[in-house]
Amino acid sequence: MSGTHSSSLNAARRARELAGLPGESPVDVLVIGGGVTGTGVALDAASRGLSVVLAEKHDLAFGTSRWSSKLVHGGLRYLASGSVGIAHESAVERGILLSRTAPHLVRPLPQLVPLLPGVSGPAAALVRAGFAAGDLLRLSARTSHHSLPRSRRVTRAEVQRLAPTVRAEGLRGGLLGWDGQLTDDARLVVALARTAAAHGARVLTRCAAEDVTGGGAVLRDRLTGQATQVDARMVVNATGVWAGGLAPGVSLRPSRGTHLVLPRSAFGDLATGLMTPVPGERNRFVFALPADERRVYVGLTDEETGGEIPDVPRASDSEIGFLLETISTALRAPLTRRDVLGTYAGLRPLLDSGSGRSADVSREHAVLTAPDGLVTVVGGKLTTYRRMAEDALDAALARSGVVAGPCRTRRLPLVGAGNRAELAGVAAPDRLVRRYGTEAAAVLDGAAREEGATEPIADGIPVTRAELLFGLRHEGALDESDLVDRRTRIGLSTADRERALPAVTETLGRIRV
Ligand SMILES: Cc1cc2nc3c(=O)[nH]c(=O)nc-3n(C[C@H](O)[C@H](O)[C@H](O)COP(=O)(O)OP(=O)(O)OC[C@H]3O[C@@H](n4cnc5c(N)ncnc54)[C@H](O)[C@@H]3O)c2cc1C
Repeated sequence: MSGTHSSSLNAARRARELAGLPGESPVDVLVIGGGVTGTGVALDAASRGLSVVLAEKHDLAFGTSRWSSKLVHGGLRYLASGSVGIAHESAVERGILLSRTAPHLVRPLPQLVPLLPGVSGPAAALVRAGFAAGDLLRLSARTSHHSLPRSRRVTRAEVQRLAPTVRAEGLRGGLLGWDGQLTDDARLVVALARTAAAHGARVLTRCAAEDVTGGGAVLRDRLTGQATQVDARMVVNATGVWAGGLAPGVSLRPSRGTHLVLPRSAFGDLATGLMTPVPGERNRFVFALPADERRVYVGLTDEETGGEIPDVPRASDSEIGFLLETISTALRAPLTRRDVLGTYAGLRPLLDSGSGRSADVSREHAVLTAPDGLVTVVGGKLTTYRRMAEDALDAALARSGVVAGPCRTRRLPLVGAGNRAELAGVAAPDRLVRRYGTEAAAVLDGAAREEGATEPIADGIPVTRAELLFGLRHEGALDESDLVDRRTRIGLSTADRERALPAVTETLGRIRV
């Protein structure tokens, strides 16, 4: 990892950096929001040599960034709507994440469309054409088929091997395409924040920005209530669906997307993403994605929302019913609510273009500069965070007249990144390498003196005390929720969350940072 600072984030560093703020004003860049966009901006700015403060009201990845499908898209969906530029940009960013910046957190995921009677010949031809276009996109982005294999037709027997619970009657085989999948979205955000910290960024969680202008903001420490004025040469508002509350001219039209969390056993040993067309809709699928910890995520809905923006959105009963019903059309036996371990919902930060249903609003990102110089970056998606950050910072630099070097993030590995050979050589279980990359051995070493630290914290929950300690010492976790809901994703299962809490609380009590 480059940079002269430590990448470790913890309560002691936070307190020290907060206390030092008054003496350091003005900073070059104040970034507001600790999701994928804000941490991306902080890394971009810090790696160009600028002094950076990032303020996050709650915790890293508290907002939309932890509620995604955890896919690193090649942009096929955008191609389908004729947005060739966005599709290409997405495919390029996918390649960067897969091969350079985060190969430890991103891997190829096969996605299968079983050809069942509900998929007509013309509909299958359309999917085939889409996958072929996806291959072209991959080629245009110079991502080799060693990183992401070509799409292909698969036999009926292969479908049954990859997705054992798919219904057999009328099955004619399947179509298989490939995309990128994150181990976890919140872990990408934490890796970005820590890499920014390694370049000197001050990453301050539990700090809400108030009275925001293009020249600074008041940061309120939510742990003590203390307020500190921070002046900045550039201020970037990266608060996602909350952006309109800080920048009055910005209008968003959030739409809710819901996922269900099921045990892998409910799908046999599902080895691929499973895509089921939504009856009566063209080019819309409900998918089941195999994830770590033997879980499957089933998504996705697109529901317009209005009114107050909740801190944590909730899935509606009808969304749960719709997802179960639609995915079950491809299965031998229908799934029921009893199979569901948990649900999660996020709000897409879509710009209000004033027309159409929410699903038609552009996913392209926007950088908006207010008359006072406040730069707001909004829209886009997780996959394109790096490009969004680059565009936002370039706009802020142009407006402020501050001189800095060119963007470096295209070639900047995040903490834990390594090439496939380096990752294969890490002396730690696979499960940890997929979450911590080259740091996996350090996660274990750091807890070597703690008795039982490498044992699961509860029956059936593979997370170890070593990971909790690493979260507190190096990943900026401050309380139980940071650990169960973001550094680990135990909390995605309601029952697991309850069972894990005693061990988490006990670890917090023991911690000496
Ligand atoms: C259901 C769903 C599925 C998705 N799936 C994918 C996918 O598979 N792949 C993909 O590429 N993209 C996906 N996306 C899109 C992607 O998740 C979002 O575009 C992205 O996470 C937005 O990140 P952000 O940092 O802009 O916003 P957020 O993650 O919401 O971050 C904003 C942060 O600002 C903080 N904040 C708010 N107000 C203040 C304040 N006053 N002071 C300080 N901090 C503040 C919040 O606490 C929050 O942490 C999905 C989106 C949804 C909703």
